[in-house]
Amino acid sequence: MEQARWNLRKMYPTDELWQADLDRAMVLVDRLAAQEGHAAASAEDLLTTLQLQDELDVAFRHLYVFAHSNFDQNMADPKAKSLMESAQNAYTVMGEKTAFLSPELMQYSMDDFNRYCSEEPALELYRRFATDFYAKKAHILSNDMETLLVRMGDLGGSFSKIFEDLTVNDITFPTIDDADGKPEKISEAGYGAALVSPDRGYRSRYWKGLLSTYGAHINTLASCYYGSVKDDVFTAKTRNYPTSRAMGLAGNFIPEAVYDNLLAAVRENMKPLHDYVELRRQLLGVDQVHFYDLFVPVVAETDRKYTYEEAQDLILKATAILGEDYTALVKRAFDERWIDVYPAPNKRSGAYSTGSYRSDPYILTNFNGTLDSVFTLAHELGHSMHTWFSNHTQPPVYADYSIFCAEVASTTNEQLLSAYLYDHAQSDAERIYLLDMRLNDLRSTFYRQTMFADFENTTHKWVESGRPLLPQELCELHGDLNRLYYGDDFALDDELKFEWARIPHFYTAFYVYQYATGISASTAIAQKILTQGKPAVDAYRKFLCSGSSDHPIEVLKLAGVDMASRQPVEDTIASFRDTLAQLKQLLGK
Ligand SMILES: [Zn+2]
Repeated sequence: MEQARWNLRKMYPTDELWQADLDRAMVLVDRLAAQEGHAAASAEDLLTTLQLQDELDVAFRHLYVFAHSNFDQNMADPKAKSLMESAQNAYTVMGEKTAFLSPELMQYSMDDFNRYCSEEPALELYRRFATDFYAKKAHILSNDMETLLVRMGDLGGSFSKIFEDLTVNDITFPTIDDADGKPEKISEAGYGAALVSPDRGYRSRYWKGLLSTYGAHINTLASCYYGSVKDDVFTAKTRNYPTSRAMGLAGNFIPEAVYDNLLAAVRENMKPLHDYVELRRQLLGVDQVHFYDLFVPVVAETDRKYTYEEAQDLILKATAILGEDYTALVKRAFDERWIDVYPAPNKRSGAYSTGSYRSDPYILTNFNGTLDSVFTLAHELGHSMHTWFSNHTQPPVYADYSIFCAEVASTTNEQLLSAYLYDHAQSDAERIYLLDMRLNDLRSTFYRQTMFADFENTTHKWVESGRPLLPQELCELHGDLNRLYYGDDFALDDELKFEWARIPHFYTAFYVYQYATGISASTAIAQKILTQGKPAVDAYRKFLCSGSSDHPIEVLKLAGVDMASRQPVEDTIASFRDTLAQLKQLLGK
């Protein structure tokens, strides 16, 4: 059994050693804090500052990864909890003591950096970092204005807090009859499971009960969202960005064409999604597909269970195409206890991949033998391999990959696994199940998130043109988008128009499109790997090794994918269409 628990103690054999490392890190914090006032006064000073910063990032990340993973494996362990709290406190102290750094460095310019580089060649390593840092200079204001903006930021951030308080703490959801006629209280936590229940009446009751509760608070929710969008628009204007979207994408240097291409390419190609809704209608044997019919599997679930050993074997075979050293690394993850495999009392639910520059890339998962949990394992291994390759290729300053690229390696692995399972399926039932899984995945990750991206694109434009966000108009906008995406034959229930009001991600503007671009990139990559073999694998490996050594769009080009073009999005739509055609053929439809 121990083989199935992760070996965190490789990081710190005892808690005392962790504490000693924290003490050492706090000394580094003080050394960096002592740079205040002369952080970049000379080439030598700047090099010291940047190297200390790297050292500190690596040290804190290592401490934090241990503390949170150690806590997550048993959240009832008071020792683990206290370690976790020590780590959080240390972070706060570090944040306070080093808050001077960015504003102080910003007083210099790229010219200063270039001059310093000629005096101290070791600074060349930081050229990419400096270029990106000073690119933001045009949006940094006077000291007084910056102080004001920090205070305003506090105010602006309160809208998401109000949203959370209202929806998590204050709203009470109604009680309905469950599938067996027993009373059940509706909750966001139970919503996902309810939507895949085979009992249509129950799905409908649950969905209507949940959505109409948001509807009962729609004025408050609309005002709250309006406040948040106004804050985005205000901040963008004050910081001299042409639009709030330009500001949202500037963080990762994503060209706005990426966003526009995604929306336009999907809007122009809705037919496959409409066809999918129609196929669901036929398979479910209903007059009209409602929102609460979108998630339930349309084909009998395979009750096939997998042992962890079988899952390992499948993943190794499915990723063999990525080369021997890739699978050797996956094998190390299995053999060297990088993975905490099974559910356990007080263990955190779900799955994630974590790790520091100095540690193995660990995985926490809750493997339960379903096909789903085999896919989850493949997904997290994708993250971990990306982390490993980047950490072993890049210096600390460029080792972390950006959010824009974060879901590419994970979903590439899923697609390779899906292709392998399909090729080796023993029955049509298995093939049908896999194809439906793929379609559902693309519907919820690609189409649905693009629809949300479309929604927030419009709301921000409205506010930028002086148009207020009124409850009824927000609801109409959401209804229209659902009509556009799911087609004229889709049932637009009254409650559906309230759905936008329950999406927490809307309080982090211009974020969700990255789910759609991430899966587009991995779809394009997986197809290239499966059809072209080695050249595509070599290109993909360059991407895995690249961390944040260049802007996200550029590192994805290493894998042969140009997200600034429409191609990857169109490839993804084509993949959806082809998968649907395959499924129809197998079903004789
Ligand atoms: Zn992921």
